[in-house]
Amino acid sequence: MGYINMVDMRKDMECILFSEEDIQNIVNRVAAEIDRDYEGKKLLVVGVLKGSFIFMADLVRQMKNKCELEFMAVSSYGAGTTSSGQLAVKKDISTDLTGYDVLLIEDILDSGFTVSKVKEMLQQRNANSVKVCVFLDKKERRTVDIEGDYVGAVVPDAFVVGYGLDYAQLYRNLPYVGVLKKEIYEGK
Ligand code: 5GP
Ligand code: MG
Repeated sequence: MGYINMVDMRKDMECILFSEEDIQNIVNRVAAEIDRDYEGKKLLVVGVLKGSFIFMADLVRQMKNKCELEFMAVSSYGAGTTSSGQLAVKKDISTDLTGYDVLLIEDILDSGFTVSKVKEMLQQRNANSVKVCVFLDKKERRTVDIEGDYVGAVVPDAFVVGYGLDYAQLYRNLPYVGVLKKEIYEGK
């Protein structure tokens, strides 16, 4: 695989699901919802690396309330385009969340496994509340009983990349969200 520029990346997309403008509208709406619900609260926004980093950066800049920011890194075992049954914490946050209302930020809810595990973990640390904000929701793929409290957009069952979401660590820097052509990941 050689150097990949923006033109080449566009060629790897089956279609564009959300343009930069679409995303801006999504972010503005979700930020307003969060502002409304967390006014006067001691808010800790926790991003799950790496997928949520662009969404989180845009989201918190549209929020008017004060908040603290933290990051966690987790990985579900196994590569490929779906997650599997085990979660490893690669980077954790402080264990004492007393007094905080925690808002967990994830790129996408798929089976729901990752978010439900991380949420569970944070709930055991004395936070006032733990809620979930996801940029995208692949609703029809859910196997674990979890929903986002704040959802950017519902997407169909296709493998999407861009705006933080990767395939094999690539495409995160696309400013839009697209469906990756099957030929890119099939047979690998
Ligand atoms: P879950 O644990 O909900 O099955 O999967 C969540 C994780 O799987 C996400 O954080 C993301 O890393 C990955 N994932 C699931 N669906 C997609 C997708 O369509 N595109 C990308 N890039 N990652 C996905
Ligand atoms: Mg992820």
